[in-house]
Amino acid sequence: MSRSGEAAASAEQALAIASDAGIHRLAIPTPFQVGRVNAYLIEDEPLTLLDSGPNSAKAMDELERALAAHGHRIEDIELLVITHQHMDHFGLASILARRSGAEVAALDALAPYLAGYSAHTDLDDRFAEEIMLRHGIPSEVVTALRAVSAGFRAWGSAVEVTRPLADGSTLQLRDRELTVLHRPGHSPSDTVFFDAARSTLLAADHLIAHISSNPLLARPLPGTPDAEHPERRPRALLTYLDSLERTREMDISLVLPGHGDPITDHRAVIDDRFRLHRGRAEKILGLISPEPRTAHEIAHELWGNVAVTQAYLTLSEVLGHMDLLLQEGRASEVEDGEVLRFTAA
Ligand SMILES: [Zn+2]
Repeated sequence: MSRSGEAAASAEQALAIASDAGIHRLAIPTPFQVGRVNAYLIEDEPLTLLDSGPNSAKAMDELERALAAHGHRIEDIELLVITHQHMDHFGLASILARRSGAEVAALDALAPYLAGYSAHTDLDDRFAEEIMLRHGIPSEVVTALRAVSAGFRAWGSAVEVTRPLADGSTLQLRDRELTVLHRPGHSPSDTVFFDAARSTLLAADHLIAHISSNPLLARPLPGTPDAEHPERRPRALLTYLDSLERTREMDISLVLPGHGDPITDHRAVIDDRFRLHRGRAEKILGLISPEPRTAHEIAHELWGNVAVTQAYLTLSEVLGHMDLLLQEGRASEVEDGEVLRFTAA
């Protein structure tokens, strides 16, 4: 069997193990580059759906058909669990909750964000604009990106969380107990759910096999430590690496991620991410050794025009690695009028 054939076979096997435990992957379409998002149907009491897919008729249609394939309707869902604040994961939640009367569970710190979705995304956009200008992205690019972001807004939708979950608490279903663990980094609200008895982790975007989960620079959630220091930019990559470290220590035989196939060796994937970020930090250090540069100039050097079309994403990548170098004392920041530049220490 070919290597990709083997990988597909082991993914099938892992999904079959999950199915035996009553957890079914429902891959829902999204309009985003990431492709499909995984919702998970947990056949238990209450009947539970973890994540929903984006707010679109196409996603709703496919979700309905995927549920029907397991003998359920939207109206049967009793509990909706939201893993984090990205719209491809929770966009349909409000419609599903209304149609089914299901309870909606999410991390307590995420609840106000989801309830005030539109106001919070406005604040997110303003936060992003400030960061982009501060790090050398031209204002016309910032303006263009604002329009793109506004266009995507409708894929999410405000939803009221009726069951706020504390970090470390347990979500008790009839046949299983899920430990709620806050693992910020990819987003400030990433929450993973651990079934210790089956050593299975519902990881959403905290850990994905085929892509490294971009630690996107995001406005801190109100009430979290980062929010108390608005003068300091959040260290998304450092936070993420710390979260990965904690997951690495856990004994897990099966990770069910938010995109793509299950992971059966989480430590190998995590070590791979550690190597990737280490390598990228070294490369960036090389770029700022000859002369100070803005984060946008670094991104442009690394990724060419993608640093313009995906300006915020690539900026987040660079700043994350700069934070790593700054923390190690190998780089420093230089104020240059409106913008900030970085130089090797
Ligand atoms: Zn995400």
